[in-house]
Formats: sequence, C-alpha cells, structure tokens
Amino acid sequence: MQSIFAENALLPDGWATNVNVRIGDDGHVAEVTPNAAADTAATRVPVLVPAVSNLHSHTFQRAMAGLAERRGPNERDSFWTWREVMYRFLDILTPDEIEAVAALAFVEMLESGFAAVAEFHYLHNQPGGAQYDDIGELAVRIAAAASQSGIGLTLLPVYYRQGGVDGRPLKGGQLRFANELDSFGNLVARSMEIAAGATADTGFGIAPHSLRAVPAADLAELAGWQPQLPLHMHIAEQEAEIEETLAVLKGRPVEWLLGNHDVDDRWCLIHCTHMTPDEASRLGASGAVAGLCPVTEANLGDGIFDAPTFLKPAGNFGVGSDSNISISVAGELRQLEYSQRLRDRARVVLAEPKQSAGRRLYLGALSGGMRALNRNSGEIAAGRWGDLVALSAGELSAFGAKDLVLDEWIFTGGVQVRDVWAAGRYMVRDGSHVSSDAIRARYRKVLESLGSRL
Ligand SMILES: [Zn+2]
Repeated sequence: MQSIFAENALLPDGWATNVNVRIGDDGHVAEVTPNAAADTAATRVPVLVPAVSNLHSHTFQRAMAGLAERRGPNERDSFWTWREVMYRFLDILTPDEIEAVAALAFVEMLESGFAAVAEFHYLHNQPGGAQYDDIGELAVRIAAAASQSGIGLTLLPVYYRQGGVDGRPLKGGQLRFANELDSFGNLVARSMEIAAGATADTGFGIAPHSLRAVPAADLAELAGWQPQLPLHMHIAEQEAEIEETLAVLKGRPVEWLLGNHDVDDRWCLIHCTHMTPDEASRLGASGAVAGLCPVTEANLGDGIFDAPTFLKPAGNFGVGSDSNISISVAGELRQLEYSQRLRDRARVVLAEPKQSAGRRLYLGALSGGMRALNRNSGEIAAGRWGDLVALSAGELSAFGAKDLVLDEWIFTGGVQVRDVWAAGRYMVRDGSHVSSDAIRARYRKVLESLGSRL
C-alpha cells in the first residue's frame, strides 16, 4: 500500500484539500480521504490530479523528430513530403532500435504527465515486407518498452492493406505495414496474447489504419471482429484523402463512415480535421471520441479541428502525441485551444461561460482518453487505476481559484509535473523518470547508429 498526501486534489466532484490517497498493491486507488491528516509514510505533494491517457502515438516516429524541418525541393512542402522522410527512416529501423525508441518516447510521455498510451502500432514486417518468424515480434518490442518505462499500454495492432482509396498496391516503406485479413487475424491473436501476458492494466483494441489504407469490405469485417473492444482509425486528416474518398466511395470520409457503420463510443477517430459542420455535429452526437493530435497536426500543416461544432452535442475528445515531434500534455491542450482562437479570432473558445479553459480542456482529455483506451482511469476515486500526476503549486495559487493551477500548467508553463504514477507504479519522481539515465543512454546509441546509416 502506498499513500499520497495532497494539499489540493482534483476529485470527481471538484477540488478538495488535505486529501490522503491510498493505492493498493494491485495498482488501484483503494481509498480517498479529504480533510485528512497525512499518513506518516505518505508522499506529500502540493497538487494531485488524475493523469491523462495519450490516445494516439506512433512511437518509432520519435526518432525522426526534428529531422523533417528542412524544406524540400517543392514549391510547397506538405504532409506528403514529410511522409517520404518517415518512410525512408523506418526502412532501416531494427527491432532493438524500435524498442529503444519506444522506451524513450514512453519515458517522455510519463515525464510530461501521461500515465498511459494507446500505441497505434503499424510497423509489423521486416524491411521489404517479409514477416518476422514471430508475427508479433515488433508488438513484443512495444510491450517490452512499456514494461521498461512503466507506462500503461493499450496495444492497437493496425491493419494496413493498400496504398490509397483506389486500392493501389503498397510500395517502399509501406511494405513494413502490410497485412491481408488472414495474416492480420494471426497478428491480432498474437498481440492479444502479448497484451494478456503484460501488466494487468494493459489494454487492447484494433486499428484499421484509415479509409486510404483499408478497403471498405475489410473495414466492415474488422468492425465485427471484437465488438466490445476499442476501434481506432485515422480519418479526414488530409484534403487529398477527402478528394480520394469522394471519387471512389462517393462521400466525404466522415460522411461515408457515419452512413456505413454504427459509429458509437467504441470508435476513436483520429484527427477529424476536415469535416463539414454537418459531419462535425453528427460525429459529435455519435459518442465517438475525436482523437486530436494538435501539435502534430500543426507541425504537419494539416488544418484545424472544428471543436465548437463538434462539442455542441456533447462530443467527446481526447489528445494524442501522434508523431511525437514534441511530447507534452500541456502542449497538446494549449495548441488545441490556440488553434481555435486563431481561427475564430476569439479567446477561451472551448470553455463554457465562466469556466476555466484549463479545467475544460483537462477534464475533456481525461474522459476521452480513458474511453479511447478502455482504461478504468480518469478520476481519483476508489476502484480506478492509480493514474496520477502531482504538480508544483505554481505562482497563481496566491489568487485562490484552484483551477488556476491547470491554466498555469497549460498556458504559462509556470507549473511543472513533479511525480507520476501509472496504475500505482511510481515512475516519475521530482520531474525525472526513475530509469531516465539508462533509457536515454540507450536511445543516444541508437541515434548515433541511425545517423551513420541514413
Ligand atoms: Zn497517426
């Protein structure tokens, strides 16, 4: 049993003071007592909040962060030129390197305040496309990296079958993603075995990559495979994708999906950048989680999510670090709000009248993240996983309003992440991950090797 004593804690019904939180050896919160005296052995923290789950990541892309910031030869640089760099890069990554990069990304996620991650895992094959002897070789590596870092993992094996909506074949770097339904069935079975052999909080779901990469008939089949599990899919990220689905499927991506599938709260749809107001409103009402990755979307120049229209019918959203160009809970939420302000030329767009933006953004990300990962977290309450973040008090505590600590964390950077627990595993202490030195040293070796081979 561990104890945390928080001077201030964000509980399901609001802020409370002098809160003792006990976490059982099974990683669940056992007891929450406000207005308490501290246990003698308790870890004392100024502010305690539930930790957000990162609902979308491709960890291997962390190793190319910063390497695609040089402009290409074209008049206009775009997602598609970035993707060429990414494909060249992943063509040389070995399983050991994939594990080392993932561990580093997971450490950075924990240090930024994420306690869990949904890894949208689409790198399955050897360079050139041959399967590994163990079809789950690279899923094993992701699970190993999660175990080394202590992060909570929801493993999402990705189905990737074709090079575009028109069914063109895969080529080059894409061959490492390739599966047909039969081989994907084997991969899913193996990945479930890997998840079942990991820590008790490890989750599982499946991820048809996108309408670009998955034929409509295969998507219909996959949606029926494990109807109780989360289903994640990229959608409407790029304008070229809209044009392709209009040409082939005779509908815009979100419009087509809503018309052809029972989209509900098991669906986590990543990006949803290009929607008409009608699509945004209907998707918001469907219960699906919009998996927003505002930092990556800004980095790639994707476009801006229509949050006001989507949220009006009680739409659910969460955030993900996606390309891992910069891993930050606060950074994702800040970029989400700022993108809305820049488009609408207005302030505090996402909050309700008189509500703090920080609180609105944070509660939204908690709820959507937990739903997308199918993870029993998101609140400091008995029976939930002990996914917790301790924050420094910040300067604005002098002004009294407790929500200011969230606003200060997200918007000014004046509040830091001090400690993080993932399902009770105490992984970040005083701002640093407990295995930071070893995992960072291994990662630097990988970068040296990649630098000489790229
Ligand atoms: Zn993605």
